Amino acid sequence: MIGFDVVIIGGGLSGSSTALSLSKKGYSVLIIEKEKFQDYKPCAGGMASSMQRFLPLDLEESVESKIKNVEFRWKAADNVTADLTGESPFWIIKREKLDKLLLDDSLKNGVQIIRPVLVETIIKRNDKWEITCDNKIKYISEFLVIADGSQSKWAGYFKLGPKKPKFANTISLRLKGLGDIPQDTVRFEFGFVKYGFAWAFPLKESLNIGLGTFINNGHLENQVINNQVIRSFGFDDFPYKTTNKKLRIWNGAYPINGDKVLAVGDAASLCDPFLAEGIRPSLISSFYAAEYIDQCLSGKVDDLNLYTKKINNIWGESMAWGRRIAQVFYRFPRTGYQLGVKRKTAPKRIAQILSGEMSYKDIAKRVIRRLITRSEA
Ligand SMILES: Cc1cc2nc3c(=O)[nH]c(=O)nc-3n(C[C@H](O)[C@H](O)[C@H](O)COP(=O)(O)OP(=O)(O)OC[C@H]3O[C@@H](n4cnc5c(N)ncnc54)[C@H](O)[C@@H]3O)c2cc1C
Repeated sequence: MIGFDVVIIGGGLSGSSTALSLSKKGYSVLIIEKEKFQDYKPCAGGMASSMQRFLPLDLEESVESKIKNVEFRWKAADNVTADLTGESPFWIIKREKLDKLLLDDSLKNGVQIIRPVLVETIIKRNDKWEITCDNKIKYISEFLVIADGSQSKWAGYFKLGPKKPKFANTISLRLKGLGDIPQDTVRFEFGFVKYGFAWAFPLKESLNIGLGTFINNGHLENQVINNQVIRSFGFDDFPYKTTNKKLRIWNGAYPINGDKVLAVGDAASLCDPFLAEGIRPSLISSFYAAEYIDQCLSGKVDDLNLYTKKINNIWGESMAWGRRIAQVFYRFPRTGYQLGVKRKTAPKRIAQILSGEMSYKDIAKRVIRRLITRSEA
């Protein structure tokens, strides 16, 4: 039996960033990761640079593009461009690089990782967690962090997050070259994908392309439409391999902690239900997970309940509005585009949302009222 202050299940973005913050506070941490190695992460890598403040390391190394413009289009026409200059910048990071950077720094700081290993059972004995893995070793810890992503097995087991998790369906691919997307521009393409949209985010020498549907469990099986979307980004000939992923999205405010256990990132269902933004809530939840575990371990508080409260205050409230916007926007996308994107003030608001300066809560009531009034007319 080997003992740790904290065991983290899942060594992706949320797991590694929680581990790094805890190790910087002097705690012993073990990460249990099921994959040996991942050379491609289905993530477009767009994030507000202001998120740097939630990490105790410099992210620059993983930044591939700094974005100045956000383009919106309706079926490859009707362009709207939001100017990001002046707002805090939006970055495109390469997820494989960012995850490696975080993990390497954690390991340097004393964190241990075992991979590829699967957890078989978790029980609580004498107020400590006993975790048995398929390597037949038993690990003991004071606290447990669930960071096993959108397909989380353990969030449900501990009743963390929504009783009925909700998922967006996504397809993603990375193509060599940038097509017709400028290096400093991201593009959101509406109108082709039912109940969702497509996006193109530039890395240094390749383009992250994604398609996502957010309501009504929409599917992305129509190959003709998928090809049309990819062509719209400036690619004629594209032998490509796609990755399908179900992304667990925010679906209401539920406890994301129990007794000495909490969930972070996608496992906690924090992903934005309108735009699929999940890096920001992963970093925020990891930061506060480490803060509140530290407060418990140092005897300042008795339980982790403040963690759920905090995340709901600073993220959940905005997501509740994001979900309402998604439900109306994706049902009436043409109207949504005209009233939500093409308005004079919209580009600035969108830039402020992407840079993290404004939340959906700040804009939602007006947007929804406008959408409902028009769609009923
Ligand atoms: C196509 C696509 C594009 C996206 N683009 C963006 C974007 O541009 N900007 C943005 O902000 N967000 C984006 N997101 C969302 C973002 O990628 C996620 O929110 C983020 O990856 C969440 O990180 P995580 O660490 O919680 O989960 P993950 O990164 O999925 O990590 C979970 C880890 O747990 C491991 N694991 C799983 N099960 C077990 C188990 N039973 N035992 C042990 N280990 C386990 C996995 O192998 C993995 O390493 C996108 C998502 C998709 C699908």
